[in-house]
Amino acid sequence: TPSKEGKMFIKALFDYDPNEDKAIPCKEAGLSFKKGDILQIMSQDDATWWQARHEGDANPRAGLIPSKHFQERRLALRRTEILVQPLKVSNRKSSGFRRSFRLSRKDKKTNKSMYECKKSDQYDTADVPTYEEVTPYRRQTNEKYRLVVLVGPVGVGLNELKRKLLISDTQHYGVTVPHTTRARRSQESDGVEYIFISKHLFETDVQNNKFIEYGEYKNNYYGTSIDSVRSVLAKNKVCLLDVQPHTVKHLRTLEFKPYVIFIKPPSIERLRETRKNAKIISSRDDQGAAKPFTEEDFQEMIKSAQIMESQYGHLFDKIIINDDLTVAFNELKTTFDKLETDTHWIPVSWLH
Ligand code: 5GP
Repeated sequence: TPSKEGKMFIKALFDYDPNEDKAIPCKEAGLSFKKGDILQIMSQDDATWWQARHEGDANPRAGLIPSKHFQERRLALRRTEILVQPLKVSNRKSSGFRRSFRLSRKDKKTNKSMYECKKSDQYDTADVPTYEEVTPYRRQTNEKYRLVVLVGPVGVGLNELKRKLLISDTQHYGVTVPHTTRARRSQESDGVEYIFISKHLFETDVQNNKFIEYGEYKNNYYGTSIDSVRSVLAKNKVCLLDVQPHTVKHLRTLEFKPYVIFIKPPSIERLRETRKNAKIISSRDDQGAAKPFTEEDFQEMIKSAQIMESQYGHLFDKIIINDDLTVAFNELKTTFDKLETDTHWIPVSWLH
């Protein structure tokens, strides 16, 4: 359904249940929705309550949803209250709102200015995800592929899924070549394993925001550049990128049209059953040191997944649970096929 004149579509970035909303004038008139749902806005005449319906819903009746402004304000307010509450008890001299609760007791007195928050009448609404205006998008046959970003906690099997996808069609899928400042080993070639550059150039590139992410390992820098993504896409390949979720916001442009897939662990019981004989590479810097999964690894994976989902869930286009690897792989494959043929929703902000 392409947007007709005067029709506006939004993607909901939070879950909403009118029955739980104390502010709604009439609960029966409310429209419930889940994070990721596409809603069609029917009226924005009221500043607090918009009228909307689920996109593609046969039922033409619109329901009430909180307006963006209203939702942002009350969420920011709620957040500020949570931030401030512990302070009211512990810091009587408090003049403004401070996020000092994050600091240890020792640091509280010395580090005030670092965590200074905005005044009460200017809530920080910038990082409160509510709605995003979207528009239908379908890839044209001669157009470059969208960048596919895979995110997930350590040990969830993201690398294995990526590898399976790559070998399933090496002509179609590609990965970026990272940069490094370490010396080339004899069996390596420049541009294959790594792009080898000097420390000076690496630092200059960091200054010029050329990297999506970078890190240091044994006195050398390693990083993935934005241009390395471009060169995969220029070969007419689907670029697979796995990064920390916080880097995704820098890639959200019309050029890359990132499609973000979250690889989520199953329940802890299923982790114990399915990963009994598997091994974990606990971090990027521990390469080669694969160890059997421990109970702590499972707990850490679940916790880390929960944090990722609550902080960045609004950026996920698709969530795939990696319970059984073959099932997850097939779901991933179907997702990729659909990505190339179906109509998807992209933010209007990418267009300008
Ligand atoms: P090596 O020098 O043995 O090839 O790799 C050393 C370490 O650098 C490995 O743990 C590897 O995972 C890490 N590394 C490789 N590429 C990148 C990258 O693009 N970014 C970051 N942060 N680390 C990387």
